[in-house]
Amino acid sequence: MEKRARSRIHRSLAVLTAAFALLAAAWAWEAGPQPTTAPAEGPLSGRVIAVDAGHGGYDGGARAPNGRWEKAYNLDIAVRLREYLVSLGAKVIMTREGDYALCDPNPPVRKKRQDMERRAARVLEGGAELLVSIHMNEYRDSGQSGPQVFYREDCPAGRELARTVQAQMIQALSPARAREALAGDFYILSLGIPSALVECGFLSNPQEEALLRTDAYCQRVAEAVGDGIAAYLALPERAQPAEREAR
Ligand SMILES: [Zn+2]
Repeated sequence: MEKRARSRIHRSLAVLTAAFALLAAAWAWEAGPQPTTAPAEGPLSGRVIAVDAGHGGYDGGARAPNGRWEKAYNLDIAVRLREYLVSLGAKVIMTREGDYALCDPNPPVRKKRQDMERRAARVLEGGAELLVSIHMNEYRDSGQSGPQVFYREDCPAGRELARTVQAQMIQALSPARAREALAGDFYILSLGIPSALVECGFLSNPQEEALLRTDAYCQRVAEAVGDGIAAYLALPERAQPAEREAR
């Protein structure tokens, strides 16, 4: 009897603990875009930078031949990039920090749209002055390799940022093919702040995909992107970003 009573108390305690954990999680979610780590002193002190790990949850993105989804590679590098930027003094706004999309299970609009709009809201409400979105490339020709950075065509500031990050990645990673930054039509680049979308490498290229699964290479990629951001912010004169696009 006493034993049963005690186990009832244990059960009630377990239920209470679970309820508090849920409340805490709900509060953390509601609290929205907070800088995720206390900033250090450094060249990026006072800067607020958004890092978007592309895809997540139901949206896997591209798929490597071994079955691993792009969303996992993206998050790995995005988290490393956050740590690196924080070490340089920046505050970092992450659009996601785990394997989830930001949409409801059954939204009234397309899931992808709600996901992207909520990412945009986090970036803007968090006061980010610059954004990079981390992705992986794929192509039917498995010989294609190397990082490729995109900017919004009508945004001179985004073009400067993309070119600076592309140049830094070429210098740091010495890819077989040195690509130039390209214009691309991506929603995440239209938030009215200097923005670049970084395709870090090709999952369709077996050698590059294998590299992108190693800690050492992911770290080099993240630091190259971070150094590119720092170099852009250190430019003596920078162009204005395009207006935010109404969608
Ligand atoms: Zn992608």
